[in-house]
Amino acid sequence: MAVTDVLGGSKGRGSGAPWRNWAGNVTARPARTVAPASTEELAAAVRTAAAEGLTVKAVGTGHSFTAAAATDGLLIRPERLTGIRRIDRVAGTVTVAAGTPLKDLNRALSAHGLSLTNMGDVMEQTVSGATSTGTHGTGRDSASIAAQITALELVTADGSVLRCSAGENAEVFAGARLGLGALGVVSELTFVVEPEFLLTAREEPMTFDEVTDRFGELAAENEHFEFYWFPHTGNCNTKRNNRSQGPAAPPGRVSGWIEDELLSNGVFQVACAVGRAVPAAIPGIAKVSSRALSARTYTDIPYKVFTSPRRVRFVEMEYALPRAAAIETLRELKALVERSAFRISFPVEVRTAPADDIALSTASGRDTVYIAVHMYRGTPYQGYFGAVERIMTAHEGRPHWGKLHTRDAAYLAEVYPRFGEFTALRDRLDPERRFANGYLRQVLGE
Ligand SMILES: Cc1cc2nc3c(=O)[nH]c(=O)nc-3n(C[C@H](O)[C@H](O)[C@H](O)COP(=O)(O)OP(=O)(O)OC[C@H]3O[C@@H](n4cnc5c(N)ncnc54)[C@H](O)[C@@H]3O)c2cc1C
Repeated sequence: MAVTDVLGGSKGRGSGAPWRNWAGNVTARPARTVAPASTEELAAAVRTAAAEGLTVKAVGTGHSFTAAAATDGLLIRPERLTGIRRIDRVAGTVTVAAGTPLKDLNRALSAHGLSLTNMGDVMEQTVSGATSTGTHGTGRDSASIAAQITALELVTADGSVLRCSAGENAEVFAGARLGLGALGVVSELTFVVEPEFLLTAREEPMTFDEVTDRFGELAAENEHFEFYWFPHTGNCNTKRNNRSQGPAAPPGRVSGWIEDELLSNGVFQVACAVGRAVPAAIPGIAKVSSRALSARTYTDIPYKVFTSPRRVRFVEMEYALPRAAAIETLRELKALVERSAFRISFPVEVRTAPADDIALSTASGRDTVYIAVHMYRGTPYQGYFGAVERIMTAHEGRPHWGKLHTRDAAYLAEVYPRFGEFTALRDRLDPERRFANGYLRQVLGE
């Protein structure tokens, strides 16, 4: 049984090899672990678990901060269920095995002159893990990775294989693109792809007042707009990505290394460690580090512009807000930090998404702004995250399914108009709760 603490930390009890997530805040001890190499092996594993009375949970690369992937039953690992299965250039799609890491998909697509339309910040996650919790980047017109799915294959509780798309098992497709692992184990996903294109990124420091005053215009004028606010300062770093005719002009090897590796990972790691040991030093460090990043422009293929390595370990909470409420919410968050004793070394990240049509997508049916808060690993985060969460929930915020939060099914049913549609689908596909764990009981109910 997985035991979940207030903000999602968990310890599972079983007898197999322990499992732990990327952030190190969730551990589980599954009864047994398997790594199927095909849909048939996966279906057989689910049938065997059912015969043994074990619950079943597929994991990705453990990049969720919540206990979404924790289990004390059968743990299905992704590493042998990988690779591109089909590319259909006429339809403009790629079909990929569910355990494929996003980085392998991106590189393989690039080798074929193709690309996904939008991505999150990193590409370590598996395609199924990323889409199951609604992983997103920032976009004016293009939505989350799950919104780029056109078809999927699902192994259901009795071990049968269900194909779903807008034209086949459409009601399952509506839920299973972002299924939280609650409807079955995804074995294969088909994504829309397009001919590879170039993006020009413009990174530019801006004050908090300017970026919040101009937010509507900046989000409307750019295909992908995001910014980071550095707590304890009035400083932000903005990033605008727009399609470009080229030529490609990647960051120089030395300057790119200084910005991406040294400042974002190496120096930042040291600053966070100092801040954890001496919290009173954090505001001073924030003022210096928020000025260290300078304006730069570069042009590259999409995944190289959207993603960057994240080597500093942290925990995170992120809320999706109705777009109209976002800037007021962010100002309340800034005021909270200013009047409190919290010392925050991680920037607050702000991104956007257009409304989509997926039942449990954080952007389901509403234009969305995401606000994400982070804490360096090993720093007490509950007070800060709890206070931020009160602000977010006062504005009908929807928590990211893979990031820390305390919301339960009763709250989530209020903020997701299609919540009942999803739980009815779960009742139909998994009446015996073969795919249950503590996290799903919290967010979906028994
Ligand atoms: C450094 C870092 C950066 C991040 N950046 C972003 C970002 O930019 N944007 C964003 O939105 N999120 C981001 N996240 C969150 C992350 O993308 C999500 O939590 C994602 O779900 C993790 O994918 P994973 O492959 O690690 O899956 P896991 O965390 O291992 O699993 C996630 C869920 O997917 C389910 N699952 C996995 N495989 C299957 C399958 N085959 N069938 C059914 N269910 C399955 C699991 O059971 C679990 O419920 C980030 C996280 C980290 C640690």
